[in-house]
Amino acid sequence: MTYQTINPYTNKVVATFPDATKQEVDAAITAAHDAFLTWRETPFSTRTAVLAKAAELLRADKRHYAELLTLEMGKVISEAEAEVELSADILQYYADHGGSLLETEQVPVALAAEGTVEIVMEPLGVLLTVEPWNFPYYQVVRVAGPQLLAGNTILLKHASNVPQAAAAFDDLFARAGLPAGAFKNLYLPHALTEYVIDDPRVRGVALTGSEEAGAIIAAYAAKAVKKSTLELGGSDAFVVLADADMDKTVEWAVFGRHWNAGQVCVSAKRLIVVDEIFDEFMDKYRTGVAALVMGDPMVSTTTLAPLSSQGAADKLAVQVEEAVAGGATAETLGKKAPSTGAFFQPTILTGMNPKNPSYYEEFFGPVSIVLRAKDEADAIAIANDSPFGLGGSVFTKDTVKGEKVARQIDTGMVYVNHPTMVKADIPFGGIKHSGYGHELTNLGIQEFINKKVIDVV
Ligand code: NAP
Repeated sequence: MTYQTINPYTNKVVATFPDATKQEVDAAITAAHDAFLTWRETPFSTRTAVLAKAAELLRADKRHYAELLTLEMGKVISEAEAEVELSADILQYYADHGGSLLETEQVPVALAAEGTVEIVMEPLGVLLTVEPWNFPYYQVVRVAGPQLLAGNTILLKHASNVPQAAAAFDDLFARAGLPAGAFKNLYLPHALTEYVIDDPRVRGVALTGSEEAGAIIAAYAAKAVKKSTLELGGSDAFVVLADADMDKTVEWAVFGRHWNAGQVCVSAKRLIVVDEIFDEFMDKYRTGVAALVMGDPMVSTTTLAPLSSQGAADKLAVQVEEAVAGGATAETLGKKAPSTGAFFQPTILTGMNPKNPSYYEEFFGPVSIVLRAKDEADAIAIANDSPFGLGGSVFTKDTVKGEKVARQIDTGMVYVNHPTMVKADIPFGGIKHSGYGHELTNLGIQEFINKKVIDVV
């Protein structure tokens, strides 16, 4: 049995859940398909009402939902509450924008003989969504919100360490009035994932997770000739130019690298600072990182959470050792981490360069790679020297220059004067090894839509 709640603050097993059997998986696919046949015909007003109700229920019980996140993957309680709010915002966004995102489009044609051409937006059917533990609600909602609105139905395979957060969504959607079968959490073992994707009633798969998992799942989908979207890892550049507002920039750098204990695909993982201000930035950054407070994530004074599991902390420690073996210097900061729990002492890596094999890796935790750039052009070149292409940011008082630099950064999202942000009404997606496809807004909903052309001559 792989699905377990283990509190990362104590490393104690809290609950264990049995894997889904083949019979349970078959029943869930059948129920999801049956639900699809009626849900796709259900008026928009009903679908949007379900999403709005789910948002309301999340908000009404914010503390309860937040505590479940903190229990299972350790994030500090204020961030857990913020995730509940964000998830409610996303559901509300789709409730509010509903039909306008799926309106029929008229296609202008040159000749009357070509007839009247329109594109109608139709759902595809049952979708599998495979999600990671770092934002257990947000990751689910950013697929379920748009796709339920579109008329698709959802099977969820969540990460094995957040089984209760996953199950909470079965209950939430049922209480919001979603028909039975239209959303189902499955404790799916890896060995049955291909089986689900192969089923002809399952029409697509959306995965958020590591590059390794993405490549496996996308290969299953490709073999079955089905649509997939992949939201994978990242190593966002946080570029600091000479004219940046130093104090604000340092504050954002500390936040950008350490929120969610540094376990965010769009964490500011590589701080790229131009030579002119490098030393000043480093002094202030060290002070900011050293002030983070590790402790019980349920307590409001804690600002740096444990990692999601002891395994994650051990893996990060090995990565830091390898970076040092490859020539980097590791500096740890702040008060010593508590001796129990999956804590990781905040660490700054300097002296990293492309000859060090660790240079191109994603560090999923409070480890900052700080790189010195000769000037703006060099900073852009360093930012682009990554297999990943998710987000990024540039800090400068000159926002015109900031936008010019943003256009030269080879990623799916770039923010000027803010670390990469996650909001209900801003699309999200990456390029290169960070995957393909979009989540959120109209871009997200269109990923699993049949844009059917109807030509009436
Ligand atoms: P992971 O191991 O890839 O897990 C993600 C999901 O994939 C989990 O549900 C996991 O299930 C499942 N999975 C993994 N291997 C599988 C297989 N062979 N067959 C079926 N399912 C499989 O990811 P992680 O390391 O926990 O999460 C962190 C990664 O996700 C980082 O790289 C991070 O950057 C990325 N991420 C990306 C975004 C984005 O939007 N781009 C957002 C958040 C995180 P189990 O738990 O059962 O293994």
